[in-house]
Amino acid sequence: MNPFDLSGKAAIVTGGNNGIGRAIAIGLASAGASVCIAGRDEKKNENVRLEIEELGHKSISLHCDVNVEADIAAVIAATEEAFGGLGILVNNAGIAALNVPEQMSDEEWSSVIETNLSSVFKFSRAAYPSLAKSGGGKIINISSMYSIFGSPLAASYAASKGGVVQLTKSLAVAWASDDIQVNAILPGWISTDMTAPIRNDMQDLYDSIVARTPAGRFGEPEECAGTAVFLA
Ligand code: NDP
Repeated sequence: MNPFDLSGKAAIVTGGNNGIGRAIAIGLASAGASVCIAGRDEKKNENVRLEIEELGHKSISLHCDVNVEADIAAVIAATEEAFGGLGILVNNAGIAALNVPEQMSDEEWSSVIETNLSSVFKFSRAAYPSLAKSGGGKIINISSMYSIFGSPLAASYAASKGGVVQLTKSLAVAWASDDIQVNAILPGWISTDMTAPIRNDMQDLYDSIVARTPAGRFGEPEECAGTAVFLA
């Protein structure tokens, strides 16, 4: 018996069309899960769906803005219809706004809080009936090491990710009796589009991050996939 076999499980990965979400979606599919790729860019969604299909696994892709509750409801309904239920929700979609706090606009604050934190609550709340109906399930939230550290350039981001950790704990205790396990992954620096400006345009910051990182490099998105499969 393979304890990491996800055959017969249906998963939604928000922001599954890029970076860490794409790697997790492919990882879950490689472990046997059927995966719905839910992001705003339909072409990128479709590319990852095809990648998964080429690996011989089932996938659907759907336009979804995690800040739009109608999109969330549509993604959950389509996943249940395509795969016969919902067992795994990965709340991965996220954005960052780099600015010093004294110059941070309301928009830079609220867009990050809404996308990174409020959407995790709204998607989890909407998924709860489906997960409970399936007899239980897993919610995996992608937080960040910035839920623990402070950041002079990312106050809204760090606050949102700290909120995700506390939300994760609260959902976990609320829904444990429904056999729904809720966990968070807190990655360090990973080479994705989100961190490209730091790798490409902020040499001093990049050098200081790598200098204090024991491995001497950023992580790769694929290095997050095994953790997600384990939690799923
Ligand atoms: P990317 O920028 O590569 O990917 C972000 C993903 O989120 C895209 O697929 C994007 O798709 C999606 N997304 C953004 N906004 C929305 C929205 N409103 N609705 C739906 N999807 C959305 O970033 P990463 O892969 O690096 O980030 C993934 C997660 O990992 C984020 O939560 C991030 O905070 C977290 N993280 C990243 C780290 C890193 O070093 N890279 C470290 C720690 C955590 P689309 O634009 O098509 O909607």
